[in-house]
Amino acid sequence: MLLTISTTAQPATDLGFLLHKHPDRVQEFSQSFGTARVFYPEAGQERCTVALLLDVDPIALVRSRGKSSPDFSLSQYVNDRPYAASSLLAGALGDVFRTAKAGRCNTKPSLAATPIPLEIRLPALPCRGGPDLAHRLFEPLGWQVEAEAVPLDEGFPEWGESRYVRLTLTGTLRLADALNHLYVLLPVLDDGKHYWIASDEVDKLIRAGEGWLQPHPERGLITRRYLGHRRALERSAFARLAELGDDAEEALEPAVAEESTPEETAAEEAAVADAEEVPERPKPLNTLRREAVLATLDELGVSSVIDLGCGSGELVGALLGRPRFSRVAGTDVSALALMIAARKLKLDRMPDAKRARLTLFQGALTYTDKRLAGYEAAVLMEVVEHVDPPRLAALERVVFGGARPEHVIVTTPNIEYNVRYEFLTGLRHRDHRFEWTRAEFRSWATRVAQENGYSVIFKPVGDDDPELGSPTQMGIFSSGARETINTASLGPTKEDPRD
Ligand code: SAH
Repeated sequence: MLLTISTTAQPATDLGFLLHKHPDRVQEFSQSFGTARVFYPEAGQERCTVALLLDVDPIALVRSRGKSSPDFSLSQYVNDRPYAASSLLAGALGDVFRTAKAGRCNTKPSLAATPIPLEIRLPALPCRGGPDLAHRLFEPLGWQVEAEAVPLDEGFPEWGESRYVRLTLTGTLRLADALNHLYVLLPVLDDGKHYWIASDEVDKLIRAGEGWLQPHPERGLITRRYLGHRRALERSAFARLAELGDDAEEALEPAVAEESTPEETAAEEAAVADAEEVPERPKPLNTLRREAVLATLDELGVSSVIDLGCGSGELVGALLGRPRFSRVAGTDVSALALMIAARKLKLDRMPDAKRARLTLFQGALTYTDKRLAGYEAAVLMEVVEHVDPPRLAALERVVFGGARPEHVIVTTPNIEYNVRYEFLTGLRHRDHRFEWTRAEFRSWATRVAQENGYSVIFKPVGDDDPELGSPTQMGIFSSGARETINTASLGPTKEDPRD
């Protein structure tokens, strides 16, 4: 099993820094199934290539699996594992290049954050769905794809094609993104049933897929295959993707995998029939959250709103759909998020009257910005937990001290509720810098309110568990200039010296 990654970003040997592997050495990493070796077939200033070679010991592979592992059969011993790049390669890649995959490089941080020219080659990749599927999976991510079916036997072309493709990917991407694409998509292309899917795979998928899986046109197929067609895991993954502020639920709709074999289809149907009653799918939390914010804005009676950290613009779209909001703005630090928002909002085809009510702009909430001011209400929906704790004070100053809307609605996860997510092992999102308990959120919000002359009340969003609280917590801040909500008594409201 072989994978090579080349770059022509100069000096090309910086690839060694990015991967944390020195170009002069051959390094070995022992894996549960054999050995992974990393070496550089070429390491020049102009072009540098790293190779990851797996030496798979089929006996070790079988022994490394848990007792409960399925599929005990001879095929575990007699198989193509040693020759084919697949889920083992993805696993080794995640292990050997862990730091690079996370996008960290202390010696060259800006290089790690920069797209560089890359060429990735996989000479023998098992690919159920053939070259066409390789195109469908990698092209939307910005790769140029060359995928060629490998003949079963070159001496006998009439035997037809094997299930392997020779894959070459070229593109200008961040190395971390490339590694995450491979980490998820190699096992997806293989679609083998041979590897054991642990319950933390949902977490791994959401983390590795961050930023690209959710908008991917094939996310349904990717999720189903990555999770080995295990329905419970798929449902959990779709719910988590939907949590990220997306309409991924629709990916759940084609209930049968695109190219399921008749046996698989029958098995899936039987599994559904077995379930005594199919529970109604609950509303995704991001929908509940949006509805709660809209209801609060209605209660407050405001007509101008700015969505701070608007992401892909779901709330902005909903606000624009209600004529009572005469001025709507969305801002985000991420240019990509704003591009997605513009696409989802169909900005280019928006009627003039609607377009005139909308302002979309890029900006960081940790720097004073005049454009943030002049709205009756501001929304910080699932944003504060993305800000590094040392920068949070800057955001407080910019929003509550500088922009000073009459009302600020803040939503954030309640970490106490996380035990309810069956397959969650860390925080809810890789980019969350923290998640607060109810007490922590209340103490933060109360201090911010007091320091800035606001009052604050709290509301649960989603199922309100008597012990754990609700999955999302919401704080509604009002400056007192125009209070329509009966605020909790926090003593007299401080005057804003500039009023
Ligand atoms: N409010 C949206 C998106 C939440 S995800 C929703 O609920 O669906 C968090 C968003 O905050 C991301 O889009 C991220 O780019 C943005 N963000 C994080 N830090 C930011 C900052 N300092 N300034 C502006 N936006 C920021």
